[in-house]
Amino acid sequence: MREVFTKTILNKHKKRDSWFLDDYSLNPYQLCEFNCIYCYIKGSRYGEKKDKLAVKINAPTLLEKELYRRAKKKEYGFIALSSATEPWMEAERRYRVTRKCLEIIARYKFPVHCLTKSPLILRDLDLLCEINENAVLPSDLGELGCGSLITFSFSTLDEKIAKIFEPNAPRPIDRLKTIEKIKDYGFYCGIAYIPVLPFISDHNEQLDEMIRVAGELADYVFVGALTLHGVGKQLYFRVLEKHFPELIPKYERLYKFNQSSREYQKKLEKLAIELCKKHGVKYMIR
Ligand code: SF4
Repeated sequence: MREVFTKTILNKHKKRDSWFLDDYSLNPYQLCEFNCIYCYIKGSRYGEKKDKLAVKINAPTLLEKELYRRAKKKEYGFIALSSATEPWMEAERRYRVTRKCLEIIARYKFPVHCLTKSPLILRDLDLLCEINENAVLPSDLGELGCGSLITFSFSTLDEKIAKIFEPNAPRPIDRLKTIEKIKDYGFYCGIAYIPVLPFISDHNEQLDEMIRVAGELADYVFVGALTLHGVGKQLYFRVLEKHFPELIPKYERLYKFNQSSREYQKKLEKLAIELCKKHGVKYMIR
């Protein structure tokens, strides 16, 4: 793992993310050691960098300055931790950069939305409890009543499929067990099935089971389609060729462009909403 000094650490969005409700994003690492084949970062300019994985060693120092300034102006908003890396990857055991950032977020009373696949988040539940109770929410999100949102992401619950597409990530069963523990602490916690993998983990029966499980464990569910672009698209197709060659023509039709077709996305959303009603779980956070 390389250690790098970054120039900026807190990204302020022009507009709040309508799904995840974050006004800011914070990525303490560059790229991600979980190495999911479908990860959209692989197709971005960051994914093409040769120097790859790195820890932003000065992230806490920069964050302290940023939040001091923004708290003074009362510019409170959810911080997505993280939008382009895994904040609790294995390297975090040693570097503790995510933990140090959480200490600062707690001190300045900002709300946080944790997006993760990792059981290591359990280490930091003390700070997340503090943030949950004390964070200042933006006035139009006051009804949420919690300063810490925690969302676990999955592309499938099938261990064999996960091994192919998320080779270094914690197993789906370990993520589900972690959600169970987090719920014991009373957090508002959800599951993001993003992305579901076309023709691999998006069949009606699979989604029915995935949303049933979410209904048992979590408070809300997202379901989102796969995006493929740049180098990431080539890599994904290489994996398809090896494990699911019969699906290549279907994918070529569905991914003429970077996004799946509008029709596919609408169908997926409609089914997700129906299944959420069936299993009594909220579709999206509110
Ligand atoms: S865990 Fe998230 S950030 Fe990391 S490789 Fe997988 S999709 Fe990308």
